[in-house]
Amino acid sequence: MCLPDVCLPMTPGEPLRLVGVELRWLELSLAEPLDTAGGTHAARPIVLVRVVTDHGEGYGECAALAEPGYSHEYAARAWRTLEGRLVPGLLDSAGGQVPSPGEVGGILEALLDTGDDQPMARAALEMGVLDAVLRVSGRSLAEYLGVTAPVVPAGGVVGICSTPGELIEKVAAMHDRGTRRVKVKIRPGHDVEPLSALRGAFGDVELLGDANGAYRLGDHRRLARLDPLGLLCIEQPLPAHDLAGHAELARRIGTPVCLDESLRSVADLEKAIATGACEVACIKPARMGGYLAAVAASEMCLSSGVPAYCGGMLEAGLARAANAALAGLPAFTIPGDLAGGERFVEGDPFGALEDLGGVVPVWHSPGLGPCPDVASLARVTTRTSWVGR
Ligand code: MG
Repeated sequence: MCLPDVCLPMTPGEPLRLVGVELRWLELSLAEPLDTAGGTHAARPIVLVRVVTDHGEGYGECAALAEPGYSHEYAARAWRTLEGRLVPGLLDSAGGQVPSPGEVGGILEALLDTGDDQPMARAALEMGVLDAVLRVSGRSLAEYLGVTAPVVPAGGVVGICSTPGELIEKVAAMHDRGTRRVKVKIRPGHDVEPLSALRGAFGDVELLGDANGAYRLGDHRRLARLDPLGLLCIEQPLPAHDLAGHAELARRIGTPVCLDESLRSVADLEKAIATGACEVACIKPARMGGYLAAVAASEMCLSSGVPAYCGGMLEAGLARAANAALAGLPAFTIPGDLAGGERFVEGDPFGALEDLGGVVPVWHSPGLGPCPDVASLARVTTRTSWVGR
C-alpha cells in the first residue's frame, strides 16, 4: 500500500510550520501489576510529546517502559534522546517546515547512530507529527490507512498467576465481557499446566502463550507438550537475537512460532520470514519505529501469508486508539492486544478505549485518537520540557 501524503487545508503553497515540541512525563501506574517472564510491570511512566505547529497540534506516546528488559529502551532514556537529539534534529530539518508523515521516519533514523537506535523514541515523535498533520487536515488515522471498519476484535492479556484458579478467574472475567482471544504470559515451569487448565475451562477461547524469550531450544520437548492444546501460537519463546533457534523450534513443535521482541524493523521481519523463524507476527508500531513502519510490516505479512496481530505495550488511550485503527488493516487476521484499557490507578488522560464486548471502536474523528483531558493530564504530569525553534 502506498500511503498518500496528507493534504492540508491551507493556502496552496503555504507550508505547515513546526513551532516546537513539548515533552511531558506522565507518572502512571498499573492498577494491577503485570507479571511476565521478563519481570513485573507496576509503574508505567509515559513520555508524551506534544507537537505544536502554526495551525494546530498533535500528541504522541512513547511506549518505552519504566526499565529496560523488554527492550534496551526505557522511558528516562527516551526522554533524553527526544529532548537532546530527535526534537532538535526535527526542528532543524526542512527549514522549520513540518515534513510529510512519510518523511519523518527517515529524518529521525538518520539522527541516531546505528548502534544506538531507539525506535520507540522515534515512533513517539513520528506519532506526534502524524497526529498534528491529520488533525489539521481533518482526517483520522483510519481514513489515512483506508480502514473503514467501525470496530475491531480485541484480545486480552493475562500475566503469570500464582495459581491456576486465579488464572481461570481472570480469564472468566474477560470471557464474561466478550473477549474470545486471550494471551497468557508463560515461563519454564509455568506453561503446560496453566494453559491446560484454561483450555479445559474455556473451549471457545483462542489462546496463545507469550514467553518473552524465556526458553531455550533445548526446551523443545516441553514446548511440544503444548501442541495438543491447539494454541494460536507461542509468542517469542526464545531470546530476541536467536532467529536460527526459532526456525529450528518451528520445525520441532506443532504450535506456530510467533515473534515479538525479535522484530525491531521491517528488515528484521523480512529476514525472520525468509528463515522460517516467524510463522505468526506480533506487530507493535512503537517497537518497529512507528505506524508507517508497522503498515509496511503488515503488508509484508500479507504478501508472505504470515498471520499477524497488533501487539500492546500497556499504552494509554491515544496509542490504543491508533492501534485499533492499524488493526483494521487486512493483514491483522488475529485479534490484537487491544482490550483492558482500564489498567491505570490514576485516570488515563486520553480515556480508556471502550470495550464493546470483545471488540473496540476504531477512531474515525480527526487525528490518531481523543485529545487529552486537560485536568487529568495536569494531575499525572510531573515534568515538562519545551524545545522550540
Ligand atoms: Mg510479547
